[in-house]
Amino acid sequence: MHTYQGPTYDMAVKQFDEAADYLDLSQEARVRVRVPKRAMIVSVPTRMEDGHVAMFAGFRVQHNLSLGPCKGGLRYSPDVDLGEVAALAMWMSWKCALVGLPYGGAKGGICCDPAAMSRDEVERMTRRFTQEILPLIGPEVDIMAPDLGTNEQTMAWIMDTYSMHAGHAVPGVVTGKPVTIGGSLGRREATGRGVFYCIQEALGLLKLPLAGLRVAVQGFGNVGSVCAALLQTNGARVIAVSDIKGGVYNGGGLDIEAVRRHAGERGTVVGFGESEPITNEALLELECDVLIPAAVERQITEANAGRLRCRILAEGANGPTTPEADAILDETDVFVIPDVVCNAGGVIVSYFEWVQDLQNYFWSEAEVNSRLREIISAAFRRVHRLHVDERLPMRLAALSVGVRKVADAKTLRGLFP
Ligand code: NAD
Repeated sequence: MHTYQGPTYDMAVKQFDEAADYLDLSQEARVRVRVPKRAMIVSVPTRMEDGHVAMFAGFRVQHNLSLGPCKGGLRYSPDVDLGEVAALAMWMSWKCALVGLPYGGAKGGICCDPAAMSRDEVERMTRRFTQEILPLIGPEVDIMAPDLGTNEQTMAWIMDTYSMHAGHAVPGVVTGKPVTIGGSLGRREATGRGVFYCIQEALGLLKLPLAGLRVAVQGFGNVGSVCAALLQTNGARVIAVSDIKGGVYNGGGLDIEAVRRHAGERGTVVGFGESEPITNEALLELECDVLIPAAVERQITEANAGRLRCRILAEGANGPTTPEADAILDETDVFVIPDVVCNAGGVIVSYFEWVQDLQNYFWSEAEVNSRLREIISAAFRRVHRLHVDERLPMRLAALSVGVRKVADAKTLRGLFP
Protein backbone atom coordinates (compact mmCIF):
# COMPACT_ATOMS: atom_id res chain seq x y z
CA MET A 1 0.00 0.00 0.00
CA HIS A 2 1.26 3.49 -0.87
CA THR A 3 1.46 6.21 1.77
CA TYR A 4 -0.39 8.76 -0.35
CA GLN A 5 -3.51 7.73 -2.21
CA GLY A 6 -6.61 8.93 -3.97
CA PRO A 7 -7.69 10.41 -7.29
CA THR A 8 -6.25 13.89 -6.70
CA TYR A 9 -2.86 12.48 -5.68
CA ASP A 10 -2.84 10.13 -8.69
CA MET A 11 -3.55 13.12 -10.89
CA ALA A 12 -0.66 15.17 -9.45
CA VAL A 13 1.73 12.22 -9.87
CA LYS A 14 0.60 11.67 -13.46
CA GLN A 15 1.25 15.34 -14.24
CA PHE A 16 4.68 15.11 -12.58
CA ASP A 17 5.57 11.98 -14.57
CA GLU A 18 4.67 13.72 -17.83
CA ALA A 19 6.87 16.69 -16.94
CA ALA A 20 9.70 14.39 -15.80
CA ASP A 21 9.48 12.44 -19.08
CA TYR A 22 9.57 15.63 -21.12
CA LEU A 23 12.57 16.89 -19.10
CA ASP A 24 14.22 13.46 -19.29
CA LEU A 25 14.94 13.65 -15.55
CA SER A 26 17.46 11.19 -14.15
CA GLN A 27 16.27 8.29 -12.01
CA GLU A 28 17.78 9.98 -8.94
CA ALA A 29 16.04 13.30 -9.58
CA ARG A 30 12.73 11.54 -10.23
CA VAL A 31 12.68 9.60 -6.98
CA ARG A 32 13.79 12.58 -4.95
CA VAL A 33 11.30 15.06 -6.40
CA ARG A 34 8.28 12.82 -6.89
CA VAL A 35 7.23 12.11 -3.30
CA PRO A 36 6.64 14.58 -0.47
CA LYS A 37 9.49 15.10 1.97
CA ARG A 38 7.40 14.51 5.08
CA ALA A 39 3.87 14.53 6.43
CA MET A 40 2.22 14.85 9.78
CA ILE A 41 -1.16 13.35 10.64
CA VAL A 42 -2.59 14.63 13.88
CA SER A 43 -5.73 14.02 15.89
CA VAL A 44 -7.36 17.26 16.98
CA PRO A 45 -9.62 16.85 20.02
CA THR A 46 -12.07 19.74 20.21
CA ARG A 47 -14.74 20.54 22.78
CA MET A 48 -18.03 21.23 21.02
CA GLU A 49 -20.78 23.59 22.21
CA ASP A 50 -22.88 20.76 23.68
CA GLY A 51 -19.95 19.66 25.86
CA HIS A 52 -18.87 16.53 23.99
CA VAL A 53 -15.38 16.18 22.52
CA ALA A 54 -15.12 15.67 18.76
CA MET A 55 -11.95 14.28 17.18
CA PHE A 56 -10.87 15.78 13.86
CA ALA A 57 -8.12 14.45 11.59
CA GLY A 58 -5.55 17.08 10.60
CA PHE A 59 -2.77 16.88 8.00
CA ARG A 60 0.29 18.88 7.04
CA VAL A 61 2.36 17.70 4.08
CA GLN A 62 5.71 19.31 3.23
CA HIS A 63 6.68 18.36 -0.28
CA ASN A 64 10.01 20.08 -0.72
CA LEU A 65 12.44 21.98 1.50
CA SER A 66 15.33 22.42 -0.93
CA LEU A 67 14.63 26.01 -1.99
CA GLY A 68 13.72 27.52 1.38
CA PRO A 69 10.94 27.13 3.91
CA CYS A 70 7.81 25.54 2.57
CA LYS A 71 4.62 27.39 1.94
CA GLY A 72 1.02 26.49 1.34
CA GLY A 73 -2.57 26.88 2.40
CA LEU A 74 -4.64 25.22 5.08
CA ARG A 75 -7.97 23.75 3.98
CA TYR A 76 -11.06 22.97 6.09
CA SER A 77 -13.34 20.59 4.22
CA PRO A 78 -15.32 17.41 4.97
CA ASP A 79 -13.62 15.63 2.05
CA VAL A 80 -9.98 16.47 2.73
CA ASP A 81 -7.54 13.56 3.20
CA LEU A 82 -3.81 12.90 3.17
CA GLY A 83 -3.67 12.19 -0.58
CA GLU A 84 -5.47 15.40 -1.50
CA VAL A 85 -3.19 17.46 0.75
CA ALA A 86 -0.10 15.76 -0.71
CA ALA A 87 -1.25 16.60 -4.26
CA LEU A 88 -1.87 20.22 -3.31
CA ALA A 89 1.59 20.37 -1.67
CA MET A 90 3.20 19.10 -4.90
CA TRP A 91 1.40 21.74 -6.97
CA MET A 92 2.61 24.40 -4.50
CA SER A 93 6.21 23.27 -5.12
CA TRP A 94 5.93 23.67 -8.89
CA LYS A 95 4.07 26.98 -8.50
CA CYS A 96 6.61 28.57 -6.14
CA ALA A 97 9.49 27.40 -8.33
CA LEU A 98 7.80 28.59 -11.52
CA VAL A 99 7.21 32.14 -10.26
CA GLY A 100 10.66 32.30 -8.65
CA LEU A 101 9.83 32.36 -4.93
CA PRO A 102 12.37 31.02 -2.41
CA TYR A 103 9.94 28.40 -1.11
CA GLY A 104 9.10 24.74 -1.35
CA GLY A 105 5.50 23.53 -1.42
CA ALA A 106 3.31 22.43 1.47
CA LYS A 107 -0.38 22.10 2.24
CA GLY A 108 -2.53 21.33 5.23
CA GLY A 109 -6.07 20.32 5.96
CA ILE A 110 -8.52 19.41 8.66
CA CYS A 111 -11.34 17.06 7.82
CA CYS A 112 -14.31 19.06 9.16
CA ASP A 113 -17.31 21.06 8.01
CA PRO A 114 -16.67 24.64 9.18
CA ALA A 115 -20.09 25.78 7.95
CA ALA A 116 -21.70 23.43 10.49
CA MET A 117 -19.51 24.55 13.42
CA SER A 118 -19.69 27.58 15.71
CA ARG A 119 -16.97 30.22 15.57
CA ASP A 120 -15.70 29.13 19.00
CA GLU A 121 -15.52 25.49 17.90
CA VAL A 122 -13.51 26.46 14.80
CA GLU A 123 -11.20 28.58 16.96
CA ARG A 124 -10.58 25.77 19.48
CA MET A 125 -9.95 23.27 16.69
CA THR A 126 -7.59 25.66 14.88
CA ARG A 127 -5.55 26.39 18.02
CA ARG A 128 -5.26 22.72 18.96
CA PHE A 129 -4.21 21.79 15.41
CA THR A 130 -1.54 24.51 15.53
CA GLN A 131 -0.30 23.12 18.84
CA GLU A 132 -0.10 19.59 17.41
CA ILE A 133 1.99 20.60 14.38
CA LEU A 134 4.06 23.23 16.23
CA PRO A 135 7.41 21.40 15.89
CA LEU A 136 7.16 21.51 12.09
CA ILE A 137 6.06 25.10 11.43
CA GLY A 138 7.62 28.56 11.74
CA PRO A 139 8.76 31.49 9.58
CA GLU A 140 11.95 29.60 8.63
CA VAL A 141 10.32 26.19 8.24
CA ASP A 142 6.74 26.19 7.00
CA ILE A 143 4.35 29.10 6.59
CA MET A 144 0.59 28.52 6.31
CA ALA A 145 -2.00 30.65 4.47
CA PRO A 146 -5.77 30.56 3.85
CA ASP A 147 -7.35 28.11 1.41
CA LEU A 148 -10.78 26.55 0.98
CA GLY A 149 -12.84 27.03 4.16
CA THR A 150 -10.24 29.16 6.02
CA ASN A 151 -9.67 32.91 6.08
CA GLU A 152 -7.85 35.83 7.75
CA GLN A 153 -9.35 35.02 11.15
CA THR A 154 -8.06 31.44 10.97
CA MET A 155 -4.58 32.79 10.28
CA ALA A 156 -4.87 35.23 13.22
CA TRP A 157 -5.62 32.32 15.62
CA ILE A 158 -2.67 30.31 14.27
CA MET A 159 -0.35 33.30 14.61
CA ASP A 160 -1.55 33.93 18.16
CA THR A 161 -1.14 30.29 19.23
CA TYR A 162 2.38 30.11 17.79
CA SER A 163 3.30 33.50 19.32
CA MET A 164 2.06 32.44 22.79
CA HIS A 165 4.65 29.65 22.71
CA ALA A 166 7.43 31.92 21.45
CA GLY A 167 6.62 34.55 24.07
CA HIS A 168 6.48 37.33 21.47
CA ALA A 169 4.57 38.13 18.27
CA VAL A 170 5.71 36.04 15.29
CA PRO A 171 3.69 37.41 12.37
CA GLY A 172 5.84 35.61 9.76
CA VAL A 173 4.50 32.17 10.76
CA VAL A 174 1.41 32.71 8.58
CA THR A 175 0.38 34.88 5.66
CA GLY A 176 -3.07 36.06 4.69
CA LYS A 177 -3.63 37.37 8.22
CA PRO A 178 -5.44 40.65 9.01
CA VAL A 179 -3.48 43.82 8.16
CA THR A 180 -3.72 45.04 11.79
CA ILE A 181 -1.47 42.20 13.01
CA GLY A 182 1.09 42.19 10.19
CA GLY A 183 -0.89 41.19 7.12
CA SER A 184 -0.19 42.75 3.74
CA LEU A 185 -2.42 45.19 1.95
CA GLY A 186 -3.77 43.46 -1.15
CA ARG A 187 -3.30 39.88 0.12
CA ARG A 188 -7.00 39.14 0.50
CA GLU A 189 -7.62 40.05 -3.15
CA ALA A 190 -4.29 38.74 -4.50
CA THR A 191 -5.36 35.37 -5.92
CA GLY A 192 -8.42 36.74 -7.72
CA ARG A 193 -6.38 39.72 -8.91
CA GLY A 194 -3.67 37.42 -10.26
CA VAL A 195 -6.31 35.42 -12.16
CA PHE A 196 -7.54 38.72 -13.59
CA TYR A 197 -4.01 39.71 -14.71
CA CYS A 198 -3.54 36.31 -16.39
CA ILE A 199 -6.86 36.67 -18.21
CA GLN A 200 -5.72 40.09 -19.45
CA GLU A 201 -2.50 38.51 -20.78
CA ALA A 202 -4.49 35.80 -22.59
CA LEU A 203 -6.92 38.35 -24.05
CA GLY A 204 -3.96 40.29 -25.42
CA LEU A 205 -2.63 37.18 -27.16
CA LEU A 206 -6.02 36.23 -28.56
CA LYS A 207 -6.79 39.85 -29.46
CA LEU A 208 -10.08 39.79 -27.56
CA PRO A 209 -11.44 42.91 -25.83
CA LEU A 210 -12.31 42.89 -22.13
CA ALA A 211 -15.40 45.02 -22.69
CA GLY A 212 -18.48 42.84 -23.01
CA LEU A 213 -16.56 39.59 -22.34
CA ARG A 214 -18.91 36.85 -21.06
CA VAL A 215 -17.56 35.18 -17.94
CA ALA A 216 -18.77 32.20 -15.86
CA VAL A 217 -17.30 31.55 -12.41
CA GLN A 218 -17.63 28.32 -10.42
CA GLY A 219 -17.00 28.98 -6.70
CA PHE A 220 -17.88 32.36 -5.20
CA GLY A 221 -15.40 32.45 -2.31
CA ASN A 222 -12.23 34.43 -1.88
CA VAL A 223 -10.83 33.67 -5.35
CA GLY A 224 -14.03 33.56 -7.43
CA SER A 225 -15.80 36.59 -5.98
CA VAL A 226 -12.76 38.89 -6.15
CA CYS A 227 -11.99 37.90 -9.72
CA ALA A 228 -15.63 38.26 -10.79
CA ALA A 229 -15.81 41.75 -9.24
CA LEU A 230 -12.57 42.88 -10.92
CA LEU A 231 -13.71 41.60 -14.31
CA GLN A 232 -17.04 43.35 -13.99
CA THR A 233 -15.48 46.64 -12.86
CA ASN A 234 -13.31 46.49 -15.97
CA GLY A 235 -16.20 46.02 -18.37
CA ALA A 236 -16.80 42.25 -18.56
CA ARG A 237 -20.23 40.66 -18.20
CA VAL A 238 -20.30 37.98 -15.48
CA ILE A 239 -23.19 35.81 -16.65
CA ALA A 240 -23.05 33.05 -14.01
CA VAL A 241 -21.58 32.34 -10.57
CA SER A 242 -22.04 29.40 -8.22
CA ASP A 243 -21.11 27.93 -4.85
CA ILE A 244 -21.46 24.53 -3.25
CA LYS A 245 -25.25 24.95 -2.99
CA GLY A 246 -25.85 25.88 -6.67
CA GLY A 247 -25.56 28.77 -9.08
CA VAL A 248 -27.28 31.79 -10.63
CA TYR A 249 -27.38 32.88 -14.28
CA ASN A 250 -28.24 36.11 -16.06
CA GLY A 251 -27.24 36.36 -19.74
CA GLY A 252 -27.25 40.16 -19.49
CA GLY A 253 -24.74 40.12 -16.63
CA LEU A 254 -25.07 39.78 -12.85
CA ASP A 255 -24.48 42.72 -10.49
CA ILE A 256 -21.53 41.17 -8.62
CA GLU A 257 -21.60 43.59 -5.69
CA ALA A 258 -25.28 42.77 -5.18
CA VAL A 259 -24.55 39.02 -5.43
CA ARG A 260 -21.82 39.49 -2.80
CA ARG A 261 -24.24 41.22 -0.44
CA HIS A 262 -26.81 38.47 -1.00
CA ALA A 263 -24.21 35.74 -0.36
CA GLY A 264 -22.98 37.60 2.73
CA GLU A 265 -26.50 37.64 4.20
CA ARG A 266 -27.72 34.18 3.09
CA GLY A 267 -24.49 32.20 2.99
CA THR A 268 -25.07 31.31 -0.68
CA VAL A 269 -25.55 32.92 -4.08
CA VAL A 270 -28.65 30.75 -4.55
CA GLY A 271 -31.88 32.74 -4.53
CA PHE A 272 -30.30 35.95 -5.84
CA GLY A 273 -32.94 38.10 -7.62
CA GLU A 274 -32.68 39.07 -11.30
CA SER A 275 -31.31 35.65 -12.19
CA GLU A 276 -32.26 32.08 -13.04
CA PRO A 277 -30.95 29.07 -11.12
CA ILE A 278 -28.22 27.01 -12.75
CA THR A 279 -26.42 23.89 -11.55
CA ASN A 280 -22.65 23.71 -11.14
CA GLU A 281 -22.50 21.14 -13.94
CA ALA A 282 -24.48 23.32 -16.39
CA LEU A 283 -22.40 26.40 -15.49
CA LEU A 284 -19.23 24.67 -16.70
CA GLU A 285 -20.82 24.01 -20.08
CA LEU A 286 -22.20 27.52 -20.65
CA GLU A 287 -21.31 29.32 -23.84
CA CYS A 288 -18.95 32.07 -22.66
CA ASP A 289 -15.60 33.69 -23.38
CA VAL A 290 -13.91 32.92 -20.06
CA LEU A 291 -14.67 30.04 -17.71
CA ILE A 292 -13.13 30.30 -14.24
CA PRO A 293 -13.29 27.21 -12.05
CA ALA A 294 -12.56 28.62 -8.58
CA ALA A 295 -13.87 25.91 -6.26
CA VAL A 296 -12.44 22.40 -5.96
CA GLU A 297 -10.41 19.77 -7.86
CA ARG A 298 -11.48 17.52 -10.73
CA GLN A 299 -14.45 19.51 -12.03
CA ILE A 300 -13.46 19.26 -15.69
CA THR A 301 -13.10 15.60 -16.54
CA GLU A 302 -13.25 13.34 -19.57
CA ALA A 303 -17.04 13.36 -19.10
CA ASN A 304 -17.55 17.08 -19.73
CA ALA A 305 -14.31 18.43 -21.29
CA GLY A 306 -15.64 17.94 -24.82
CA ARG A 307 -18.69 20.04 -23.97
CA LEU A 308 -16.85 23.16 -22.76
CA ARG A 309 -17.88 26.20 -24.80
CA CYS A 310 -15.42 28.80 -23.50
CA ARG A 311 -12.48 30.37 -25.33
CA ILE A 312 -10.29 30.73 -22.22
CA LEU A 313 -10.18 28.38 -19.24
CA ALA A 314 -8.64 30.33 -16.33
CA GLU A 315 -7.92 27.94 -13.46
CA GLY A 316 -8.49 29.85 -10.22
CA ALA A 317 -8.87 26.57 -8.30
CA ASN A 318 -6.06 24.08 -7.82
CA GLY A 319 -6.37 20.97 -9.96
CA PRO A 320 -9.79 21.66 -11.53
CA THR A 321 -8.90 19.79 -14.74
CA THR A 322 -7.96 16.09 -14.87
CA PRO A 323 -5.21 14.77 -17.20
CA GLU A 324 -7.89 12.94 -19.24
CA ALA A 325 -9.74 16.23 -19.71
CA ASP A 326 -6.47 17.93 -20.67
CA ALA A 327 -6.00 15.40 -23.48
CA ILE A 328 -9.44 16.34 -24.84
CA LEU A 329 -8.89 20.10 -24.44
CA ASP A 330 -5.52 19.86 -26.22
CA GLU A 331 -7.49 18.98 -29.37
CA THR A 332 -9.74 22.05 -29.12
CA ASP A 333 -9.06 25.78 -29.33
CA VAL A 334 -9.74 26.34 -25.61
CA PHE A 335 -6.82 28.39 -24.26
CA VAL A 336 -5.89 26.93 -20.86
CA ILE A 337 -4.24 29.11 -18.21
CA PRO A 338 -3.04 26.36 -15.86
CA ASP A 339 -3.55 26.65 -12.10
CA VAL A 340 0.15 26.87 -11.20
CA VAL A 341 0.33 30.16 -13.11
CA CYS A 342 -3.25 31.40 -12.93
CA ASN A 343 -3.78 31.28 -9.15
CA ALA A 344 -0.15 32.07 -8.18
CA GLY A 345 -1.13 35.61 -7.12
CA GLY A 346 -1.98 34.31 -3.65
CA VAL A 347 1.42 32.87 -2.91
CA ILE A 348 3.22 35.78 -4.60
CA VAL A 349 1.59 38.31 -2.28
CA SER A 350 2.01 35.88 0.62
CA TYR A 351 5.73 36.07 -0.13
CA PHE A 352 5.50 39.88 -0.06
CA GLU A 353 3.70 39.65 3.29
CA TRP A 354 6.39 37.37 4.76
CA VAL A 355 9.15 39.70 3.53
CA GLN A 356 7.33 42.70 5.05
CA ASP A 357 6.92 40.84 8.36
CA LEU A 358 10.59 39.84 8.50
CA GLN A 359 11.68 43.42 7.74
CA ASN A 360 8.98 45.17 9.77
CA TYR A 361 8.58 47.49 6.81
CA PHE A 362 5.21 47.66 5.10
CA TRP A 363 4.35 48.54 1.50
CA SER A 364 1.47 50.46 -0.08
CA GLU A 365 -1.28 48.50 -1.82
CA ALA A 366 -0.28 50.06 -5.15
CA GLU A 367 3.25 48.71 -4.73
CA VAL A 368 1.97 45.24 -3.82
CA ASN A 369 -0.32 45.14 -6.86
CA SER A 370 2.26 46.40 -9.31
CA ARG A 371 4.91 43.91 -8.14
CA LEU A 372 2.29 41.14 -8.29
CA ARG A 373 1.47 42.06 -11.87
CA GLU A 374 5.15 42.12 -12.83
CA ILE A 375 5.85 38.62 -11.43
CA ILE A 376 2.69 36.84 -12.58
CA SER A 377 2.77 38.36 -16.06
CA ALA A 378 6.43 37.37 -16.48
CA ALA A 379 5.58 33.78 -15.45
CA PHE A 380 2.63 33.71 -17.85
CA ARG A 381 4.80 34.94 -20.74
CA ARG A 382 7.57 32.48 -19.97
CA VAL A 383 5.09 29.59 -20.03
CA HIS A 384 3.45 30.87 -23.19
CA ARG A 385 6.83 31.16 -24.92
CA LEU A 386 7.56 27.50 -24.14
CA HIS A 387 4.07 26.56 -25.31
CA VAL A 388 4.78 28.20 -28.67
CA ASP A 389 8.49 27.38 -29.11
CA GLU A 390 8.34 23.75 -27.93
CA ARG A 391 4.72 23.13 -28.97
CA LEU A 392 3.86 22.03 -25.44
CA PRO A 393 0.41 22.26 -23.89
CA MET A 394 0.31 25.24 -21.51
CA ARG A 395 0.10 22.95 -18.45
CA LEU A 396 3.09 20.83 -19.41
CA ALA A 397 5.06 23.99 -20.21
CA ALA A 398 4.28 25.45 -16.76
CA LEU A 399 4.94 22.23 -14.85
CA SER A 400 8.19 21.56 -16.67
CA VAL A 401 9.63 24.93 -15.55
CA GLY A 402 8.65 24.28 -11.92
CA VAL A 403 9.75 20.65 -11.83
CA ARG A 404 13.09 21.44 -13.47
CA LYS A 405 13.92 24.10 -10.89
CA VAL A 406 13.15 21.79 -7.96
CA ALA A 407 15.16 18.96 -9.55
CA ASP A 408 18.10 21.31 -10.24
CA ALA A 409 18.07 22.54 -6.62
CA LYS A 410 18.22 18.97 -5.31
CA THR A 411 21.02 18.04 -7.70
CA LEU A 412 23.07 21.12 -6.78
CA ARG A 413 22.65 20.54 -3.06
CA GLY A 414 23.55 16.87 -3.47
CA LEU A 415 22.33 13.85 -1.57
CA PHE A 416 22.99 13.86 2.17
CA PRO A 417 25.02 12.15 3.68
P1 NAD B 1 -13.32 29.70 -0.27
O1 NAD B 1 -13.61 28.76 0.81
O2 NAD B 1 -13.17 31.16 0.02
O3 NAD B 1 -14.44 29.57 -1.43
C1 NAD B 1 -14.72 28.37 -2.08
C2 NAD B 1 -15.99 28.51 -2.90
O4 NAD B 1 -16.20 27.31 -3.63
C3 NAD B 1 -17.25 28.72 -2.05
O5 NAD B 1 -18.14 29.55 -2.76
C4 NAD B 1 -17.80 27.29 -1.93
O6 NAD B 1 -19.20 27.26 -1.64
C5 NAD B 1 -17.50 26.77 -3.31
N1 NAD B 1 -17.44 25.31 -3.38
C6 NAD B 1 -16.88 24.44 -2.51
N2 NAD B 1 -17.05 23.19 -2.93
C7 NAD B 1 -17.72 23.26 -4.09
C8 NAD B 1 -18.20 22.31 -5.02
N3 NAD B 1 -18.02 20.99 -4.81
N4 NAD B 1 -18.84 22.74 -6.14
C9 NAD B 1 -19.02 24.07 -6.34
N5 NAD B 1 -18.62 25.03 -5.51
C10 NAD B 1 -17.97 24.61 -4.40
O7 NAD B 1 -12.00 29.15 -1.00
P2 NAD B 1 -10.96 29.93 -1.91
O8 NAD B 1 -9.87 30.41 -1.04
O9 NAD B 1 -11.68 30.88 -2.80
O10 NAD B 1 -10.36 28.73 -2.77
C11 NAD B 1 -10.99 28.27 -3.96
C12 NAD B 1 -9.98 27.50 -4.80
O11 NAD B 1 -8.86 28.35 -5.09
C13 NAD B 1 -9.37 26.26 -4.12
O12 NAD B 1 -9.11 25.30 -5.12
C14 NAD B 1 -8.06 26.78 -3.57
O13 NAD B 1 -7.12 25.75 -3.38
C15 NAD B 1 -7.66 27.73 -4.69
N6 NAD B 1 -6.70 28.75 -4.29
C16 NAD B 1 -6.94 29.63 -3.27
C17 NAD B 1 -6.01 30.59 -2.93
C18 NAD B 1 -6.26 31.62 -1.87
O14 NAD B 1 -5.43 32.52 -1.71
N7 NAD B 1 -7.35 31.59 -1.14
C19 NAD B 1 -4.79 30.64 -3.62
C20 NAD B 1 -4.55 29.75 -4.67
C21 NAD B 1 -5.52 28.81 -4.99
